[in-house]
Amino acid sequence: MPQRKAPCGTYSAYKRHLRNKEKVDAKCRAAQRKHDGTRSTSATARAARAAKPKTPATPPATIELPAPAPSTARTEVVSRLDVLKELLEQQRLLLPTLRQEEPARAYLLMREQRETLREIDEIQNAGASKGATLADQLAEARAARAARAAGA
Ligand SMILES: [Zn+2]
Repeated sequence: MPQRKAPCGTYSAYKRHLRNKEKVDAKCRAAQRKHDGTRSTSATARAARAAKPKTPATPPATIELPAPAPSTARTEVVSRLDVLKELLEQQRLLLPTLRQEEPARAYLLMREQRETLREIDEIQNAGASKGATLADQLAEARAARAARAAGA
């Protein structure tokens, strides 16, 4: 069973220092020089190689980022929605103060709030209907035709 951690003064330890971004001490520096000079024929180098831990030299450096949103149109809708929601939140926060200090403006703000809400609703419904299937639309058309037929 190979030793997991090579002691200082071995080439393995030298490489471990590099891997761990540790300061290479004199003993390990000497071991590295010896390793390079003798091209690994010494017993020390063979022992060091035998003791080499089976960990990968470099850990995976990159973290996979989530793929960007596939369509820009969808992103625009989302960001517009975000802006409107933020606006609504601001209106919500402002309303109590306005109600006390300027009731007339509070009334206007409430109407504005309703507008914002409706716009949010429209965007959300637009997003939903974009996903609505053709079958839904056909069913609707069929229902309309049936209603007309029943009326005639
Ligand atoms: Zn060392």
